[in-house]
Amino acid sequence: MDTPSKPQLHVNTERLRKDIDDLARIGLRKDQGIYRMAFSEGDRAGRDWLRQRISDCGLEFHQDGAANLYARLNWNENIPGVIAGSHMDTVPSAGHLDGALGVVCALEALRVLQESRIKLKRPLEAVSFSDEEGRFGGMLGSQAVAGLVTPEYLYNACDLDGVTLTSAMSQFGLDAREALHAQRAPGSIHAYVELHIEQGPVLDRKGLSIGIVDAITGLFKWEINLIGVANHAGTTPMDMRADAFQGLAEFAAQLDRVLAEYGSPHSTATIGRVELKPGAANVIPGQVVFSLDVRDTDPHTLGALADALRRSLSAIARRRGLMFEFSVLSEIAPVQCAAPVVEAIDAAVNSLGLSATHLRSGAAHDAQIIAGIAPAGMIFVPSKEGRSHSSAEWTAWRDIEAGANTLLNTLYRLAA
Ligand SMILES: [Zn+2]
Repeated sequence: MDTPSKPQLHVNTERLRKDIDDLARIGLRKDQGIYRMAFSEGDRAGRDWLRQRISDCGLEFHQDGAANLYARLNWNENIPGVIAGSHMDTVPSAGHLDGALGVVCALEALRVLQESRIKLKRPLEAVSFSDEEGRFGGMLGSQAVAGLVTPEYLYNACDLDGVTLTSAMSQFGLDAREALHAQRAPGSIHAYVELHIEQGPVLDRKGLSIGIVDAITGLFKWEINLIGVANHAGTTPMDMRADAFQGLAEFAAQLDRVLAEYGSPHSTATIGRVELKPGAANVIPGQVVFSLDVRDTDPHTLGALADALRRSLSAIARRRGLMFEFSVLSEIAPVQCAAPVVEAIDAAVNSLGLSATHLRSGAAHDAQIIAGIAPAGMIFVPSKEGRSHSSAEWTAWRDIEAGANTLLNTLYRLAA
């Protein structure tokens, strides 16, 4: 039940819409995609815009060593505060909502709370984390806050063109090593809330405005190398071949069975990139390098899947006379959202009378990293047809407003 001590707050729709529209023009190119990759010119313009918006409304601006940008309300470093946010960097040719929505709505929530003059027990911050999307590996900002960044990583990280993180940050007048100082002590954050587009089809198909996230899937990403013998496609009999692609094809055909046997109904496995060598129509592929991305919300299930997939690969390789190597590109542990944060979101949704469901996130987010040092939760709004990481990304305005109001009232409940 809502009592008068818990007023229902509403965002300033016009101001929020203008911010989302303005930010959507920053880094926009002719293909209608947005290019704000971390520490690119687009990112710089986005950062300048956010800093200006923060100072326009009289909130305190702060930038930490990892170049995370914060707006602060009632800042007091001795009281664990409530943080909301996401990221403003994008993949190349991105849509206008992934990440940006969470940052702009967090800023709007702080503006409304500031204007309301309601007395709050806790300080509030709106944050935009650096390099979530992975120009230099991904989740740089949140990992720095969670104390997961190492000097080796900062020194070695580079993008696909070989530009190092160190040099990209120095173009911004920043010293990458300062990221080691962005760490926050465990216990110093009361709660972290991230509003994000779902990037999946569930809410859109069900016609619901809000998703309350219970868990964020963990994942492992491998690069697998099957090595056989490249040979003449005409003169080598079928039973004398070591065809690397045939090995991959057999492995791919086994994924469904391995998931059914060792996974959960929510497990996923994806081979998203394949490179055949030498890659000629009349040559037996002597080598295939491919990626494997596997996700689930349970760490034990992920472990069982990893073991089963390794066994399957080595059996196929042995039978087909192939060598097999694999390297782990990334591993992210699954995360259960914190009960007090989930309850605050539930209460906010109920007080606003919005249509909602509980679900899990199949995509990785900064919230997953911050969950390592603070109670964390996520609010999803629908993605039209589940589309994301493309200019086709779209969410109806009424759902954006519903998400922004849910975030605002959740923050109020956590900070009051
Ligand atoms: Zn995102």
